[in-house]
Amino acid sequence: MRLENGSRVIIVGGGPAGSFAALHLLRLAAEASLRLEVMILEARDFNRPGPGGCNKCAGILSSTVIRKLQTLGLSLPPDVIQTEIEAYVLHLGGAQLPIRRPDATRRIFSVYRGSGPRLGQPQFPRSFDGWLLDQARERGVDVRRARAQTIRPGVRPAVATAHDRWEADLVILATGVNARAPLAAEWGYRPPRTETMAQDEVPLPSGFLDSSVHIFFDHPPGLIFGGLIPKGRYANISLLGRKLPPDAVSDFLEGQGLTSLFPNGSALLCGCAPRVVIAPASGYYADRFAAVGDAAITRLYKDGIGASFITAEAAARAAVERGLSRADFAAGYRPVCQRIAADNLFGRLLFRSWDATRGSPFLMKAWRRAIVAEADQPPATRIHTRILWGMFTGDESYRQIFLLSIGRRALAEFLQGMIQNRREG
Ligand SMILES: Cc1cc2nc3c(=O)[nH]c(=O)nc-3n(C[C@H](O)[C@H](O)[C@H](O)COP(=O)(O)OP(=O)(O)OC[C@H]3O[C@@H](n4cnc5c(N)ncnc54)[C@H](O)[C@@H]3O)c2cc1C
Repeated sequence: MRLENGSRVIIVGGGPAGSFAALHLLRLAAEASLRLEVMILEARDFNRPGPGGCNKCAGILSSTVIRKLQTLGLSLPPDVIQTEIEAYVLHLGGAQLPIRRPDATRRIFSVYRGSGPRLGQPQFPRSFDGWLLDQARERGVDVRRARAQTIRPGVRPAVATAHDRWEADLVILATGVNARAPLAAEWGYRPPRTETMAQDEVPLPSGFLDSSVHIFFDHPPGLIFGGLIPKGRYANISLLGRKLPPDAVSDFLEGQGLTSLFPNGSALLCGCAPRVVIAPASGYYADRFAAVGDAAITRLYKDGIGASFITAEAAARAAVERGLSRADFAAGYRPVCQRIAADNLFGRLLFRSWDATRGSPFLMKAWRRAIVAEADQPPATRIHTRILWGMFTGDESYRQIFLLSIGRRALAEFLQGMIQNRREG
């Protein structure tokens, strides 16, 4: 079971994971002097404004994924970039705490996954997912606008849409978690566990956002954090939380005192309730089959596009360099997914300790003191800034952030804050 000259690979789903899988396959196959026939089936038209043409996310690209694009010979075109993010501003108990980019090389950008909000006005923004799919097309991938209805196992698996049926040497599932995976039950695939999030878009409130992402906590109940993210003429509102109510976004704007930013009344321009992965899929590889991106696993609450890049590359590498059997994917692909899952355990620990800190006014005050105290230090040595920047942007692994946060420097500064608290009663 190996890829040969002329082998056909069908990728179902043309979001970032699908396009990355195609681009990695072509690159690695060329290095191995292999000529592949690669097809992507994608149900959406990314040129359509609103949820129908969009893969529904906050649209922040971490600096690691921006750097990784270069390994595929890609660089983000200016018309895809909406805003360069310079800072995160945390809104905590009525105070604002700015966290500036820790170093100039770690540039991050906001993008649109589709063509902007449903009620947006021309000029419509250019979709990141659409651009990526175009890159695959330009490199020879056969991109078809179609929804796969079934994927059946066999000597060669078969993919069927309403009008066509193809057999393939390898099928890659990249359907994310916002649509049912069209796999026959015999594959034994169980999709990842998910939570429902809430999102909307608003006109960019003048003077409020500039190039900062604003992060809020506490309200509505169940919120882990909510972000207001500048994207060109608009701002995205993304609420990450557990069991958020259906009207979470309006509730959030009201509860956080943000409605005054929109003097002409309700300004919600889009609205969707996408799913986010909170635990990996099982049965995500088999003979001649691998799932990538959200359909397999992602990083907890951040950098899902970066995780799509990593899983797509690992699955493509296993297929080209090892082979197409279950054992090949177990040896070459599974360890990469397991590393992401292990890193997410550190993420859970960090979010738990963050919750505990926020629940204690004493700890919160000590932590705020530690951040304010390091503001005068050179950017590279601001440890708490680096921890928070990494937590929110996905620029560093959760393990690295965890190790930083239990390091001597971070703990000493935190302790110093607690001592000052005590002194002041
Ligand atoms: C609220 C929220 C905010 C987020 N914010 C960020 C962020 O700021 N930065 C970040 O990096 N990540 C973020 N993420 C995560 C990110 O959206 C995902 O990790 C990422 O989109 C996964 O890419 P994917 O290609 O695996 O899946 P998707 O992006 O979901 O793409 C799947 C594609 O498959 C297509 N498809 C599905 N079924 C079929 C079918 N049967 N036939 C043909 N095509 C099909 C769909 O149309 C879609 O285009 C966020 C997620 C949520 C929910």
